[in-house]
Amino acid sequence: MTDQVTILGATGSIGRNTLDVIFRHRERFQVWGLSAQSRVEKLAGIAVESGAKVVSIGAGRTREFRCALNGQQTDIRVVEGEAGLKHLAEMPESEVVVTGIVGAAGLVPTLSAIRAGKKVLIANKEPLVMMGPEIMREAALSGATVIPLDSEHNAVLQCLPVSFRDESLICPTNPSTSRLEEHGIEKVILTASGGPFLYFPTEELDNVTPEQAAAHPKWNMGKKISIDSATMMNKGLELIEACALFSIEPSRVEIVVHPQSIVHSLVEYSDGSLLAQMASPDMRIPIVNALGYPDRISSGSERLDVGQLGVLEFKEPDERHFPCLRLAREVAETGGTAPVILNAANEIAVDAFCNGRIRFTQISEFVDRTLQILPVLIRRDLETVLEVDLKTRRVTKDLIMSAPGTA
Ligand code: NAD
Ligand code: MG
Repeated sequence: MTDQVTILGATGSIGRNTLDVIFRHRERFQVWGLSAQSRVEKLAGIAVESGAKVVSIGAGRTREFRCALNGQQTDIRVVEGEAGLKHLAEMPESEVVVTGIVGAAGLVPTLSAIRAGKKVLIANKEPLVMMGPEIMREAALSGATVIPLDSEHNAVLQCLPVSFRDESLICPTNPSTSRLEEHGIEKVILTASGGPFLYFPTEELDNVTPEQAAAHPKWNMGKKISIDSATMMNKGLELIEACALFSIEPSRVEIVVHPQSIVHSLVEYSDGSLLAQMASPDMRIPIVNALGYPDRISSGSERLDVGQLGVLEFKEPDERHFPCLRLAREVAETGGTAPVILNAANEIAVDAFCNGRIRFTQISEFVDRTLQILPVLIRRDLETVLEVDLKTRRVTKDLIMSAPGTA
């Protein structure tokens, strides 16, 4: 049987890697739908190459997309804007939805795919940060399957007992933290490469450029996640993501710096055993794991030569060097809409840094100041979350505009 796959955010780094894997297994997967926000030429190219039946594009770009098709594949259906994206995410013809959109923009389509009961392979972590427990509850209601594509969370999935994996993600039931003990699980350990500034003197972080920050030593990813890796906000977001996916309290999620990016995460059991997943740092591995689940199929990645690995290092992260980690942990403990505020403020601050309006070290400062201004609400339904997201963006933008020395 062939699975019909929809890729949201098909022109990005996750999209590219997903297509690579699908093209290696054309007998098993077919592309049903693709989405992109703006890179019309690129989307047209991959729509033709993959034989997609439907595409979703940013509002007002349908004509431009048709022109870019240049007379090829004229029967393709084109939808646009937020409504088009939502429609694509829930179309009954496709069973599998890969979420590769960056940021909070992926929240509504992710929820739509979950509510439609699909097999949802989640790379887009920001929606899980904003309302992860609610998304998991929706999955339990609709019968959706959730499989993490984020390399750390996919590694954790692989190290969990099959029974726990099945009831928490594959056929989610009502999440409850007590099940961890039943399975002898003590904690989850997420590894972090430490990004490009791990060995930089803290005092010099003030002067780093967006180009330096985006140059990740191990992974080739989109700009926003690359900057998040440099501040280690990415690991903070992943901590909150792990709590939601595995119904685990923040205190049971540990973060360790592992510069070689070979061990992608670990699970610690009550007998003292640690199970780890190791692989080359290549996103096609978690993607193929999730697409093929429970089967193991080839990813095309380079094999690890264990005899050649040499030393693997692990150490505690320095929260003075990476203040975003502390902010994210505090927010994870607070709950409610605090993670929504953290996420939106971070998106605005990262954008301002990329556009040269603030310094690298100001990313955490503006996130911190925003968190201090906005009240945390306990209610976390979609409407409230979208309102808080919007309001936070305005507050952080105002803070940046009114700060001395910012443009
Ligand atoms: P990217 O910037 O390379 O691609 C983003 C995609 O989202 C593009 O297709 C773009 O058109 C689309 N998009 C952007 N803004 C949009 C909007 N407002 N509405 C609809 N679509 C929009 O990003 P990426 O590196 O592929 O990351 C995607 C997501 O996956 C992020 O949440 C990231 O944290 C997560 N992730 C990525 C990697 C990786 O290796 N790149 C690894 C783990 C997790
Ligand atoms: Mg990750």
